[in-house]
Amino acid sequence: MVVGDIATGTDVLVIGAGPGGYVAAIRAGQLDLDVTLVEKEAYGGSCLNHGCIPSKAMITAADVAHEAGNAEEMGVHADPAVDLAKMVEWKDGVVDQLTSGVEKLNKGNGVNLIEGRAEFADENSVRVAHGGEGQGSETVEFEHAIIATGSRPIEIPGFSFDDEPVLSSRDALALDSLPDSMVVVGAGYIGMELSTVFAKLGTDVTVVEMLDDVLPGYEDDVKRIVRKRAESLGIDFRFGRTASGWEEADDGIRVATEAMEEEAAAEADGGSEARSASDESSGDEPRGATETFDADKVLVAVGRQPVTDTLNLEAAGIEPNDDGFIETDDRARTEKEHIFAVGDVAGEPMLAHKGSKEGEVAAEVIAGEPAALDYQAIPAAVFTDPEVGTVGLTEAEAEEAGFSPVVGQFPFRASGRALTTGDSEGFVRVVADEDSGFVLGAQIVGPEASELVAEIGLAIEMGATLEDVASTVHTHPTLAEGVMEACENALGHAIHTLNR
Ligand SMILES: Cc1cc2nc3c(=O)[nH]c(=O)nc-3n(C[C@H](O)[C@H](O)[C@H](O)COP(=O)(O)OP(=O)(O)OC[C@H]3O[C@@H](n4cnc5c(N)ncnc54)[C@H](O)[C@@H]3O)c2cc1C
Repeated sequence: MVVGDIATGTDVLVIGAGPGGYVAAIRAGQLDLDVTLVEKEAYGGSCLNHGCIPSKAMITAADVAHEAGNAEEMGVHADPAVDLAKMVEWKDGVVDQLTSGVEKLNKGNGVNLIEGRAEFADENSVRVAHGGEGQGSETVEFEHAIIATGSRPIEIPGFSFDDEPVLSSRDALALDSLPDSMVVVGAGYIGMELSTVFAKLGTDVTVVEMLDDVLPGYEDDVKRIVRKRAESLGIDFRFGRTASGWEEADDGIRVATEAMEEEAAAEADGGSEARSASDESSGDEPRGATETFDADKVLVAVGRQPVTDTLNLEAAGIEPNDDGFIETDDRARTEKEHIFAVGDVAGEPMLAHKGSKEGEVAAEVIAGEPAALDYQAIPAAVFTDPEVGTVGLTEAEAEEAGFSPVVGQFPFRASGRALTTGDSEGFVRVVADEDSGFVLGAQIVGPEASELVAEIGLAIEMGATLEDVASTVHTHPTLAEGVMEACENALGHAIHTLNR
């Protein structure tokens, strides 16, 4: 149907229905604001359709296959066969259930939904182009706008996502047959999660990373455990190398890589010294040396960039920063009082829960409530094997911030529950301020780290002390006892580990 160019008005216009935008719209609806949510693709955004949820579904399925095939020690004899098309169909079912839930929740909260692509016409209106050719467009005038257009995967020179053997994370999660071999470019959290999935399903995985270790930004002992487990799954790491191009080969493709100049590698790593991991994995090759890898597919997972270039932001009088992000204050406001930005488009950390919280705050500020953002306890999880969960400050960060940090640690090998799951590698580390006892942060690597970290997030948010967490009775036998034990260890009276 050709709708023509009609104009409608709304109190709050939200652009993008990912976890930042749809949460903002629902919260604004709950606050009795007149809300319109525009989405060009699918409700739920990257998170529900191509990110958090599909990747976690595939991680679970790959874990089931891997664990079943490796449970001889527990007396379970199984030889699982993987049907990737069926697995992807199951994953799609999970996604469909959630995305239709998002649509219903928005409608149920009185949100007016428009399908189409929005771009600013001026500071108080957007033009929304509906679907394909001849579908028409409409103009929506707004009192307030919330930009929640998210991010897209970064392409690197020589690797276009339009080429069939080159995969983005989105493509990798939609494959219907398992590649025999894959080169993964990038050992950040997305590269590591997907490498682990494919390695567990039986693909021969080589990870090419320009830095000298996995998971940039995490502490060395955390990275070491993740890297070692990945290596034990057969993942081959080539650190200190960049991928420079690919060509068709007799059977699949050939991916060319170059060793980084030492100085460039250190610069890319934020100036840190090159460490031994690269030497272990790459050997003593001369810098600049080329090396090729044969594979069926190449997955490029080198990071994500904000979607700000297709919004005609100039018309709204907003200028993104040099990295393309929209800068905001602690109320999610942009340089224009009545326009807000939330989620990936508003900067790091590019995580779904950070975007959702910002969405809630933006809606509440528009409704006149005294809301503001509190970034001190934003957790992050990496769903590798084992998982990583972090929140708040590391010991070094606490020192830098002027605290006298005290650290308590509990190894999962001392946890009865971890031993009964057959997965006892890793630790819980808690960081607190020695003078006040306030809990400042945690770094957890091991089983269910993504869940366990929530306890410390709550402790930080509530201003709890080590004593508060240590004296809380925890269920036995659970992994959560490890959090209590780490706090007891920091206090010098741990029961199941020797105190330092
Ligand atoms: C493989 C992968 C795994 C991930 N795993 C996790 C995880 O485990 N935990 C976690 O916290 N985060 C994870 N993330 C990151 C998470 O997906 C993002 O942080 C989150 O989706 C950001 O939410 P958002 O609302 O800002 O944007 P998005 O989810 O990207 O949503 C933006 C929406 O805006 C729409 N849009 C864009 N431009 C327009 C326009 N002009 N008009 C109308 N609509 C528009 C898009 O179609 C999209 O639906 C993962 C990401 C990937 C890729």
